[in-house]
Amino acid sequence: MKAMVLNEICSLKENRTPLQLITLPIPTPKEKEILIKISACGVCHTELDEIEGRTPPPQLPVVLGHQVVGTVKKTGLNAKRYKAGERVGVAWIYSACGICTFCRQGDENLCEAFRATGRDANGGYAEYMTVLEDFAYKIPDVFSDSQAAPLLCAGAIGFRSLRLANIKDGQNLGLTGFGASAHLVLKMVNYQHSDVKVFVFARSEKERDFALELGAVWAGDTEDKSPKKMDCIIDTTPAWKPVVAALSNLRPGGRLIINAIRKEERDKDYLMKLNYPEHLWMEKEIKSVANVARKDVSEFIKLAAEIPIIPEIQEYPLESANEALMELKERKIRGAKVLNLS
Ligand SMILES: [Zn+2]
Ligand SMILES: [Zn+2]
Repeated sequence: MKAMVLNEICSLKENRTPLQLITLPIPTPKEKEILIKISACGVCHTELDEIEGRTPPPQLPVVLGHQVVGTVKKTGLNAKRYKAGERVGVAWIYSACGICTFCRQGDENLCEAFRATGRDANGGYAEYMTVLEDFAYKIPDVFSDSQAAPLLCAGAIGFRSLRLANIKDGQNLGLTGFGASAHLVLKMVNYQHSDVKVFVFARSEKERDFALELGAVWAGDTEDKSPKKMDCIIDTTPAWKPVVAALSNLRPGGRLIINAIRKEERDKDYLMKLNYPEHLWMEKEIKSVANVARKDVSEFIKLAAEIPIIPEIQEYPLESANEALMELKERKIRGAKVLNLS
């Protein structure tokens, strides 16, 4: 099978083609696993973090990609959940131990043995992959393969951050950064909490206009003071400035949710501007979002089909994965990027 693999950690400034196209044997599904013939795989900012070593794969080479949609080709021993030909998706959570306290309470995203698709195991930048059947999800018919792919990461983690935000009717929700995940959060809020007001902080005018178009009541620059204090702000940026700016826009007792797997080091000195009375005092909270649990993925897909949320996508052939990644790195973003393998 064709696969785009990462052979070594590198800086994308120096190496614009970090992935190589190679031929690998089609994997064989083990017990309780399914073999998926992949038709689409989303391209995520986390791949940049893997390539550049902020969340490095433990073993190389590896096939990246964790927003996978395809059809079941073969089932392993005792895998009974899906039949050949059924359409399924795979998300960032590849497996977890299943027996620790976190796993038993449905927080397997926090499990010590958490393994990520396309980092700790081969993912979706290839024609086939295997996964435990319990970590695959049925994809509702309303979505095409490529439309469903970005929902599996940006959507599911957005859903989890909204859950952690614990936003209540009538409150003000801030979103700092307005990329793939944040714009899906805005659509979810519009549907689920129509009297929550959404304020968007984004450095690009295009993103601010897009936010207003989607129903945000206000859109400003990252460092702007919002006209009202926020009950909660969800940060989806890779930087530190938005964290400090968001803390000063929170009301007393407000909560900042940081939805980022890693922050870049570039503007870390901005944290020195942190001023305790302005940014942290008055019982302000900071909470990060880590990974996704299966319930986030399955509940979100159901909700997305019901609303429905149909993401804007931009498609690339598998062989153009490097190009898609570089465009993401350089913020040339027109909808969610998806590798189309069908
Ligand atoms: Zn992702
Ligand atoms: Zn566990």
